[in-house]
Amino acid sequence: MTSQSRIGTGAGISVQALESLRATLNGDLLNNQDPGYDEARSVWNAMIDRRPAHIVQPRTTADIAAAVSFARDQQLPLSIKGGGHNIAGLAVCDDGLMIDCSLMRSVSVDESTSGVRVQPGAVWGDVDQVTQPYGLAVPSGIISTTGVAGLTLGGGFGWTTRKWGHTADHLRSVEIVTADGQIRRASETENADLFWAVQGGGGNFGVVTEFEFEARRIGPTIAGGLVLYPMDEAPEVVRFFREFSQAASEDLTTLLVLRIAPPAPFLPEEVHGKPVAGIAAMYAGDPDQGMESLAPLKAFGSPLADTISPKEYAIHQSFLDSGQPHGRRYYWKSEYLPDVPSELGSKMLDHCAKFTSPHSSMLCMRLGGAAKRNQSGHGAVSHRSAEYVVAIQGAWEDPATDDEHIGWVRSFHQEVRPYSTGGTYVNFLTEEEGADRIQDAYEPEIYQRLAGIKAIYDSENLFRMNKNIKPAG
Ligand SMILES: Cc1cc2nc3c(=O)[nH]c(=O)nc-3n(C[C@H](O)[C@H](O)[C@H](O)COP(=O)(O)OP(=O)(O)OC[C@H]3O[C@@H](n4cnc5c(N)ncnc54)[C@H](O)[C@@H]3O)c2cc1C
Repeated sequence: MTSQSRIGTGAGISVQALESLRATLNGDLLNNQDPGYDEARSVWNAMIDRRPAHIVQPRTTADIAAAVSFARDQQLPLSIKGGGHNIAGLAVCDDGLMIDCSLMRSVSVDESTSGVRVQPGAVWGDVDQVTQPYGLAVPSGIISTTGVAGLTLGGGFGWTTRKWGHTADHLRSVEIVTADGQIRRASETENADLFWAVQGGGGNFGVVTEFEFEARRIGPTIAGGLVLYPMDEAPEVVRFFREFSQAASEDLTTLLVLRIAPPAPFLPEEVHGKPVAGIAAMYAGDPDQGMESLAPLKAFGSPLADTISPKEYAIHQSFLDSGQPHGRRYYWKSEYLPDVPSELGSKMLDHCAKFTSPHSSMLCMRLGGAAKRNQSGHGAVSHRSAEYVVAIQGAWEDPATDDEHIGWVRSFHQEVRPYSTGGTYVNFLTEEEGADRIQDAYEPEIYQRLAGIKAIYDSENLFRMNKNIKPAG
């Protein structure tokens, strides 16, 4: 094989330039003829099928700095892949350079300071696996295969947000490669503007090469699980969810789930394939107190199944993974809500009686608590006063049926929109949702400040394969 055919010169880059990049890397440089190319460019959402001209798989921060400088100097579109879980799939670019961080997944704990350092390709399951033996966890999302990088940079909420605040609130510092190829640290005392911006402003400001978090003490055992009810009890379930979630202490987080029952062994066979309503919950504290707090939920209605029990925190963190596998086609819409009034509940149930796919679902999570209290001084995370977040999640397999499932999500969303705070979560925006919706994801003064910081660190908008904040001016 000649050097020319092995390297490929996609995007018109010279062989010499590519060889010179390769020579500086500890990691790998792939093109479309290399084994591993298709795996590297694949992401969780199978709707995304882009083909970068070149993929750098770094092993070190220096590799990332070299890749950023290369993309800038060669004027290549640049995209960054963390866990590859974002619905919009902006981790992958066409005809440009993609930095795929999947070879950098290490996590380390400093028990004396409860500090946790995480590399940019790690997923939350990697973090829980390393921190739980110390009785520690970094507050994260509800699916263990989601990437640390994208979730943290967009804010991040999950089972412990009501108690401790967003994931981004737990950052102590980051190491970041900015558009000029410089490696910087950012914290409250060093490049404080940049630090504020990466706490919610997404991947707009550089490639984060290390996240340093403050972990919280939790586990190994917590109380949590899921109670599922038949659809004919759903109106009462939605009402109960509202009352129970509003009365709950900040230790307790609840999630309303409307979906088609999977063929799970814990469910009676006669409900497989039928719509069901569920309430998932976790108590972030003493498991006995947790079971006491969850007693009203366990006593409510006539459940089809009840998995709430004392269990390992790490197991709870991954118990919903199987419902969101890698490689299906996905399309979402999401809103922040101030409340779940009964007429909204009825609309949710109407749409969930008409699921177009057995894999689609609607999730509505209670927020509030610490997420709401941490109003200022905690970075660019916006819409903290929202009490709930709703996600309408279309999921299916056959590309020929895209329109049908996308149509279901859109018409459902139209019904939910009037009940929104007007805000949405940046990490749940799809590819098509552009400048207006990105602005909806931030409060106006936060957006303006982000645009100003973008102008300082990335005035040419090198980092634009993301929910893009244009440089001010
Ligand atoms: C099934 C599922 C469940 C989810 N659950 C939750 C949840 O419970 N809570 C929650 O808050 N969110 C949740 N999310 C949303 C999630 O936070 C976002 O999808 C997030 O972007 C995923 O991060 P990632 O690293 O896996 O994504 P990627 O697709 O790899 O990256 C997303 C974007 O982040 C940027 N980026 C990635 N790595 C870096 C880096 N090192 N430096 C700079 N920029 C970078 C890039 O712009 C990239 O396009 C969920 C998503 C899915 C698909």
